[in-house]
Amino acid sequence: MAHRVTFIPGDGIGPEVAWAARRCLEATGVAFIWDERLAGEAALKQTNTLLPEDTLRSIRENRVAIKGPITTPIGKGFRSVNVALRKQLNLYACVRPCRSYAGVPAPVRDVDLIIVRENTEDLYAGIEFPAGEPRTRQLIDQLVEWSKQPIQPDAGISIKPISASATERITRFACEYALARGRKKVTAIHKANIMKFTDGLFMEVSRRVGQEYQGRLVFEDRLVDAASMQLVLRPQEFDVLLLPNLYGDILSDLCAGLVGGLGVAPGANLGDDAAVFEAVHGSAPKYQGLNKVNPTAMILSGVMMLRHLGEREAADRLEQAVAAVLREGRVVTYDLKPTRNDVSAVGTSEMTDAIIQRLKIVKTQVL
Ligand code: NAD
Repeated sequence: MAHRVTFIPGDGIGPEVAWAARRCLEATGVAFIWDERLAGEAALKQTNTLLPEDTLRSIRENRVAIKGPITTPIGKGFRSVNVALRKQLNLYACVRPCRSYAGVPAPVRDVDLIIVRENTEDLYAGIEFPAGEPRTRQLIDQLVEWSKQPIQPDAGISIKPISASATERITRFACEYALARGRKKVTAIHKANIMKFTDGLFMEVSRRVGQEYQGRLVFEDRLVDAASMQLVLRPQEFDVLLLPNLYGDILSDLCAGLVGGLGVAPGANLGDDAAVFEAVHGSAPKYQGLNKVNPTAMILSGVMMLRHLGEREAADRLEQAVAAVLREGRVVTYDLKPTRNDVSAVGTSEMTDAIIQRLKIVKTQVL
């Protein structure tokens, strides 16, 4: 039976990479019924809203979407359209695998880890009070009275909510995700020694939930500063990383850097009722329409979507086709060449064609 999937091309380089992924997904032979919808700048132009209700309805109905990156225009009432989309659909888990592929220029080898980032809380909740406003000064007065700590009267304030319930939910998600993929270890990351009531709660609750998985998984936790250094020095020691929202954002870019950059970093935002697959990178407007950027991150997000849909064999085949093209290093975009102005670099569509060609001959084998 064909899978109904909401397809959001996105803005900037979005349509180029989203179509690259769609062409590869179709070339696997899996049947799709695409429901194309708008979000971001493209939606603003056509519908006068950044996140149209029919886009949300389509994702709710289909339960699966693949989305190109979207641009959040500054000053249009949204802090981030992406964050709004995750909130509206309660996509509480952000999953970003970071895997070394032969042929991709990268500072280290043999990385194979998965980042699981809590998507709904933390400093990303968007609860902020600008410096200088009367109610910010009121809040500062109240906080100084309660905490007995000095705060400069001209400070801006951002609030960091972390709850036991959301931490329990994301820890369970990370452990189940790890088990379902044959992973052995989950490492929770925090700064509990300093932020005792937020990161401390995250540490306590994740440890408690992690204990339930004893015997099936190793569950450990580390401070975010130490973990950052260890990730650079010995990334092979990590398996699944479990992080609150902000550390998850930062460390997923760090880990993307370890395996070769944003051009090869896929991702998914998952909830109980819907799943949205998208690359880690943004809409890189300066490359829009140039047929230049790397489609790999978006195609690998499509691989994740195939696995989510239960199409494991097609997912393995597509991943192997991508891996083969990367390994050969011939028909690849500029960012995968030894130097940025290598004249042998090809465009987005040529690299996609090479992957589709490879897909036709690839036989499933262990990567
Ligand atoms: P960006 O990820 O769009 O681009 C940063 C740089 O990374 C680019 O200039 C380019 O050098 C490189 N890069 C990104 N994707 C690449 C690819 N596929 N191949 C090769 N190189 C690639 O980040 P930005 O410039 O900070 O953000 C631009 C816009 O994207 C903003 O409006 C931001 O809000 C949005 N954004 C959207 C998403 C999303 O939709 N999920 C995520 C991040 C940023």
